[in-house]
Order: sequence, then structure tokens, then C-alpha cells
Amino acid sequence: MPSFVIVEKCDGCKALDRTACQYICPNDLMILDHEKMKAYNQEPEQCWECFNCVKICPQQAIEVRHYADIMPLGSSTFPLRGTDNIMWTIKFRDQKTVKRFKFPIRTTAEGSIDVFKGKTMPSDLSGLKKPGFFTGPAREK
Ligand code: SF4
Ligand code: SF4
Repeated sequence: MPSFVIVEKCDGCKALDRTACQYICPNDLMILDHEKMKAYNQEPEQCWECFNCVKICPQQAIEVRHYADIMPLGSSTFPLRGTDNIMWTIKFRDQKTVKRFKFPIRTTAEGSIDVFKGKTMPSDLSGLKKPGFFTGPAREK
């Protein structure tokens, strides 16, 4: 089932130019109603149910219902993202049983990855035509 916004929880990302859910959706589906300051999925049938918007929303205001064989109707699953872990809260269909699972999501400090480390850097634009650009091991110049 595609993503949907729980309007009571959405704060429109406090009127940022681009909300977190708009920023992260790979299919550009999320949009902000500037009058109501609430986001919504403008084309639910195009939703890949990838959970990106669910995980990034700082208000836990987006839900994607899992398929019934995993999450029976009435149950829900919500993530809460930290800097190095994510906590999933599973509410059972009896509405009473709640279980939480916490998983690490990274092994390096945020911002510490040097993406071009060990890669061949171009000396001029002719390097763009060479195979293996940016993906091969460092070469002698
Ligand atoms: S990320 Fe969450 S709080 Fe921000 S606009 Fe989207 S649904 Fe609302
Ligand atoms: S679940 Fe994925 S595809 Fe669907 S609206 Fe959210 S980010 Fe976009």
C-alpha cells in the first residue's frame, strides 16, 4: 500500500523550501500543500513503497502499510532514525502488543567517507572518455 501522510503529525517540515519527504522520494511523489502546511503523496499509484519517506520524516508522520501476510490489518510499523541506528516500532493488531527492534545503520562516522579516495582523478576533460573512470584503482599519471 502506498505511502500516506498522517496529517495530525505532519508539520510541513516547519515551512522549509523543500520538505524531507520531497527531498528523499526517488519518484518525486511527495508534495507540500503550502496553505495547509501538510505533505501528501500526489500519485499513490506510482509509489514504490520503498520506505524512504517513512524513514526520513522527522515527525514519524508517514506510513506505508506492509502487505497483509507480514503485517495483518490493524497493525503498524514505524521507524525512528538516529544518527547511527534505526528503531522499528511494531504495533500488533490487538493494538496492545508493541515490540521494538533497533539496528545499526552505519559503521563510519557521518561525513567521514572520502568518496574519491583511491580513485583516479582526471587531469583534464579528456579523462572523461577513458574507461574505468572513477571506478578503477588509482593509476600512475
Ligand atoms: S517529512 Fe514528514 S513532517 Fe516533513 S513534510 Fe513530509 S510528512 Fe510532513
Ligand atoms: S515510499 Fe518511496 S516511492 Fe513511495 S512516496 Fe515514499 S519515498 Fe516515494
